[in-house]
Amino acid sequence: MNPARLLVLSGLLYAAWRLLRRRIREHVHEELLREQEAQKKKAAAQDVLEEDPLCGVLIPRQQAVRLRQNGTTYYFCSDACCDQFIGKTEGAKG
Ligand SMILES: [Zn+2]
Repeated sequence: MNPARLLVLSGLLYAAWRLLRRRIREHVHEELLREQEAQKKKAAAQDVLEEDPLCGVLIPRQQAVRLRQNGTTYYFCSDACCDQFIGKTEGAKG
């Protein structure tokens, strides 16, 4: 085999290898993106929205301020709403 042909052949092999590597990388990237998207959707579906009984705002349960009172769990958008709610219910009692 003459050296020029060998050079061309190795050049072709190198180009093919680079193309293959890029394909693999793109594929892995797409897979990762798809997985992340699926996880996001799953998380959003699991995150139930709760209504703040004081101001009426809807808050994802994971981020809400919780208060358990008389066996009922209330969810608030903030500590301020929670405190006000406690003040209200305590005021109503006595
Ligand atoms: Zn609120």
